[in-house]
Amino acid sequence: MQDLTVIPASNTAALPAEPMTLRHWIGGAWRDSADGATSERRSPAHGVPVSIAAKGARAEAEAAIAAARAAFDAGEWSRASGKDRATLLLRVADLIDRDQQAIARQEVLESGKPISQALAESEGAADLWRYAAALARTMHGDSHNSLGPDMLGLVLKEPIGVVSLITPWNFPFLIVSQKLPFALAAGCTAVVKPSELTPGTTVMLGRILEEAGLPGGVCNIVLGYGDPVGETLSTDPRIDMVSFTGSTGVGKRITAAASATLKKVSLELGGKNPQVIFPDADLDQAADAIAFGVYFNAGECCNSGSRIIVHEDVAEALTEKVVALSRRVPFGDPLDARTQVGAIISPEHLAKIDGYVRGAVAAGARVALGGAALDVGGLGAQFYQPTIVTAVRPEMPIATEEVFGPVLSVLTFRDFDEAIALANGATYGLSAGVWSRDVSTCLDFARRVQAGTVWTNTWMDGFAELPFGGFKESGQGRELGRYGLEEFLEVKTVQMRIGRTRGAWVA
Ligand code: NAD
Repeated sequence: MQDLTVIPASNTAALPAEPMTLRHWIGGAWRDSADGATSERRSPAHGVPVSIAAKGARAEAEAAIAAARAAFDAGEWSRASGKDRATLLLRVADLIDRDQQAIARQEVLESGKPISQALAESEGAADLWRYAAALARTMHGDSHNSLGPDMLGLVLKEPIGVVSLITPWNFPFLIVSQKLPFALAAGCTAVVKPSELTPGTTVMLGRILEEAGLPGGVCNIVLGYGDPVGETLSTDPRIDMVSFTGSTGVGKRITAAASATLKKVSLELGGKNPQVIFPDADLDQAADAIAFGVYFNAGECCNSGSRIIVHEDVAEALTEKVVALSRRVPFGDPLDARTQVGAIISPEHLAKIDGYVRGAVAAGARVALGGAALDVGGLGAQFYQPTIVTAVRPEMPIATEEVFGPVLSVLTFRDFDEAIALANGATYGLSAGVWSRDVSTCLDFARRVQAGTVWTNTWMDGFAELPFGGFKESGQGRELGRYGLEEFLEVKTVQMRIGRTRGAWVA
């Protein structure tokens, strides 16, 4: 072992005696699949079964779509006042806070992330429900009172209709909360499909929505796989919009599938996010943020700062600092409160991460730290060492593709233009960071980099108020902020002739 900080199994008594049973929520009723099919999820860290979920087929997806369509058309929610919608969303936020410990624990057990971060995720999710409640009460359209003496123009905002919300496994509870409360605030009805790997906390959210009094059919949850559940949610003509977070490959498939019915598609996809470090940067602060950026959620993070582009004058000094910090980051049992990096989601994904590192080494890169699976005493084999790969060239797959693991690639630059070219060299454009004490350097970078979010002298801060989304192949549309609500709204123009009639068109 390369002198790393490892937290061995310490809390196995907290493992569940029984896996959680999860059912679909359709039209206000909890149901098994008609064919009785289920799928089991085992804890990536501990290997024990932690949930058994109904495995949906086309029939369950279609029943949920029918329920959401009927609920939307009935109008109990879609025509409710902003005040009533906000009251319910606030109640949901309070119930999330009440159930925070149970939600976080299930998230740890299904995803492998550390308990401290799962708790923070639940807290952040409750904040999003509260923020969306504020939007529900304050949203409004426009009026045009300058169209002439006998004309008034109104721009109405209306819910877009029935939306399908398809989410990934890496932040299951947070990501559904980046979508659902905004859709509900707008007045939409929804069918939610969580990842087949992490369905538990989405079902727990459904139970909370039921307790909060959401009318049956306004939100429906169908458990299962992309094929056939996600696919049905992307093609059915009764769905007006698909909001998807996941990989760029699946995002492209959904866009193609949705095109036959021209439904709106909003996409939050992958990233290969650069942090550019100029020689005048505070290297200690930058090193700490780089460690956070690459190891947070074991690097299984669309915002992973998996690629640093550092000026060659400070590259060696900075790399040494990041290596030293990386040895101190506690990797291990996600149920231990001290752990900062937990397990990798699946054995197949661990093999993929390792493949990127091996491929880079074969192409001439060097491993400064890690580069192999991590042995965590008393737990299974699904852990990967903190890994730093230097001498990476821009054309290597490790520099251009999402590794989605605790693996940092180090590239170097000589001048500003080269740094920008390297930063913009990926097909992705989700987020980017710049480190410099010179505000002009930071601003110049922020304006020229192709990314939906730019952090200057910080990394991965997030606020409900600030929109989030990607340029290029990182997606389309935005979540969070007012834009996150606008995505779920349709715009209707009303032109009203007042008083006088217009001159006759037919002479
Ligand atoms: P994924 O694309 O494999 O799966 C995401 C969801 O899509 C799952 O629910 C899956 O069942 C479903 N799905 C799969 N095939 C489908 C199909 N043909 N039609 C409809 N749905 C289908 O992604 P993942 O492995 O769960 O998550 C990791 C990816 O998500 C990474 O690429 C990551 O960058 C991205 N991500 C992006 C953001 C963001 O906000 N930009 C946030 C988190 C994760």
